[in-house]
Amino acid sequence: MPLKVTVWGENKHEKTNKDVQKIYPKGMHTVIADALNKDKEIKAITATLDQAEHGLTQKVLDDTDVLSWWGHAAHGDVKDEIVDRVQKRVLEGMGLIVLHSGHHSKIFKRLLGTSCDLTWREAGERERLWMCNPGHAIAQGIKGTYFELAEEEMYGEPFGIPNPDEVVFLSWFQGGEAFRSGVTYKRGAGKIFYFRPGHETYPTYHDANVQTVLRNAVKWAKPEGRFPAGCPNVPVEKALEKIVAKGASVH
Ligand code: ZN
Repeated sequence: MPLKVTVWGENKHEKTNKDVQKIYPKGMHTVIADALNKDKEIKAITATLDQAEHGLTQKVLDDTDVLSWWGHAAHGDVKDEIVDRVQKRVLEGMGLIVLHSGHHSKIFKRLLGTSCDLTWREAGERERLWMCNPGHAIAQGIKGTYFELAEEEMYGEPFGIPNPDEVVFLSWFQGGEAFRSGVTYKRGAGKIFYFRPGHETYPTYHDANVQTVLRNAVKWAKPEGRFPAGCPNVPVEKALEKIVAKGASVH
């Protein structure tokens, strides 16, 4: 069975910005989904903000192993009830890949619990992504010890995130800043990967190394089982062993 991935795109800049339309005529989400579908072990579909329930119905999420998220201009338009739904699925075990300006999405901030603030500059500068752990599953297939993107937006430290479980990539920018650009977390049973590159006016999601990272990331984030939500009481008569009451505190 292939891994079922839902690629969520805000799909706003693609409708209003001619530069973005030239690079991503069918939207960034389509290019990302096509890149994932090059791997026979992955079956990716897309969903966008303007669809009913943002394309993230309970049925879609129940049928999603890994969700990827790109948002920027309309984080505030994402309904809280959908954020609740996505959060619940992550805690149950669904993987989540948060991309670029998704650092300020409701779902990322909710799951991490911090500001997720950073510094930024849009100057079309070179980004060099160093592999902090070339042996990590998400870094497989990248040749050498780093890869470069000729033009990107700069994101710099301090990055207002909790200490990550792992830092897979660390970026250097031409202007001198550095940034933890590939970090992992676990929340409940769900694995989370944040990957920095992907500003809408640069062809980042067409880059072969970026596509390799995305395919690796969804495979790394696949569920390892389902952790059911809820807090059920286990009555005494259903305990595996007979409980011998000791003292007044036991009813
Ligand atoms: Zn950006």
